[in-house]
Amino acid sequence: MAVCQSTELKAAEKPNIVFLFSDDHALQAISAYDGRLKDIAPTPNIDRLAKEGAIFENSFCANSICGPSRASILTGKHSHKNGFMRNGTKFNGDQMTFPKLMQKSGYQTALIGKWHLSSDPQGFDHWEILPGQGNYYNPNFIQMDGSKKRFTGYCTDIITDHAVEWLEKRDKKKPFILMCQHKAPHRNWSPAARHLTLFDGQDIPEPKTLRDDYSGRAEWLKKNKMEIDRHFYWGHDMKFHGKSVMPEKILDGINNMEYARMTDEQKKVWDAAYAPKNKKFIDDYNAKKLSDDDILQWKYQRYIKDYLRTIRALDENVGRMLDYLEKSGLAENTIVIYSSDQGFYLGEHGWYDKRWMFEESLKMPFLIRWPGVVKPGSRPDEMIQNIDYAPTFLEIAGADIPEDIQGRSLVPVLKGDAPKDWRKDIYYAYYMNPGTHNVPRHDGVRTDRYKIFYLPQPDEWQLFDLEKDPLELRSVHADSAYAKVFKEMQDLYQKRRTEVEAVLE
Ligand code: CA
Repeated sequence: MAVCQSTELKAAEKPNIVFLFSDDHALQAISAYDGRLKDIAPTPNIDRLAKEGAIFENSFCANSICGPSRASILTGKHSHKNGFMRNGTKFNGDQMTFPKLMQKSGYQTALIGKWHLSSDPQGFDHWEILPGQGNYYNPNFIQMDGSKKRFTGYCTDIITDHAVEWLEKRDKKKPFILMCQHKAPHRNWSPAARHLTLFDGQDIPEPKTLRDDYSGRAEWLKKNKMEIDRHFYWGHDMKFHGKSVMPEKILDGINNMEYARMTDEQKKVWDAAYAPKNKKFIDDYNAKKLSDDDILQWKYQRYIKDYLRTIRALDENVGRMLDYLEKSGLAENTIVIYSSDQGFYLGEHGWYDKRWMFEESLKMPFLIRWPGVVKPGSRPDEMIQNIDYAPTFLEIAGADIPEDIQGRSLVPVLKGDAPKDWRKDIYYAYYMNPGTHNVPRHDGVRTDRYKIFYLPQPDEWQLFDLEKDPLELRSVHADSAYAKVFKEMQDLYQKRRTEVEAVLE
């Protein structure tokens, strides 16, 4: 009898939510997504969520850049509605956000890790955030009283430590949402000491478009400043010391600030890993043994290995959190989500970074485990967007969803019962114009087959047939065979702009 009562009580409990979030984690680097890196760089712990829950292939951001994606998540609104359109601005925390409404519904709310919205978090019972982009090594954290504390160690590990500590000391009578937000795998991709030699001696596969010449698409693509071939820095990205010995190939100008933060012991381990590899590359270059393409290949390998090394620590820490939830008995009534603020170019189109409405940075990973609700091993094909997270959390918490939220609750989709009128396309807008990497503002719409976007300057359309051209190598907006599609997509674009009250011009 007692057992029965306790089961009934459990069923009535509101579920907890652990939102595991990272920064710039591309779908290509999560093995459950079946990408080109899945064999060489598996993510077994993140994959556990796919196995025990659902993985969404058609998951998109509203604006492919750090701060705006986070603001869309908090508000359930597109950037122009929540006011955080570009990095470098300040989020107006006085507006409605889901954590505030969840608090009113009796949830405890906590946020630990990367925030990147300039203003102090609101709506959280507990928060501890990295200043700005934060650091991988011996990071500072801003405390709720405004003071800064420095912690020795590796950021991804420390964020998990602090998240688990909060779980331990929380008010155990209340349901909770914990947002555990990592810096990794953001630039400058500094791996943990234990992973510095991971992948040494291995060749990571290159994407087919590493040598993209940008023909057949907007002229502006050639003006980007995010190419592996031309825009990496000697210290910051490529992890050398001193001045570039090949400034025309690897730029001078930004040093490795992570190295500057390390303890002597950390520096020793770091140098033992990088110095011999760096020396060999420089010696080969000086001996004129390297062609331009050899140098490109080397830079790609340095970049992708460091990126994947930071993901190894991330995946381990996802595992630590999942293990903690099991051990503490929380797993059964806790929804676990893994997502990242946008995707990333891992050499596709010759790039690193994000911003463009092309697939690799438009997509966001989204994996969710919800015991008893989400079917284990499911791969829903509904189109979802980061503006949907807030209404989803609110519905889970039993809170009212404000009328002006632009996203839709995913709860019916998660139950395998998507409404008939579920969206068939998504609206996207990028505003930085042109910002650090010289990507112009643009907005567009993506359906299951086509993607249209518009660059107001220089008044140019792009149209892609994702079925025939999944790598997005040729815009067909001027192709007469696509005249009808182009018109239909332009109409859809205008319709969506009207609905969301778009401001991009
Ligand atoms: Ca990001």
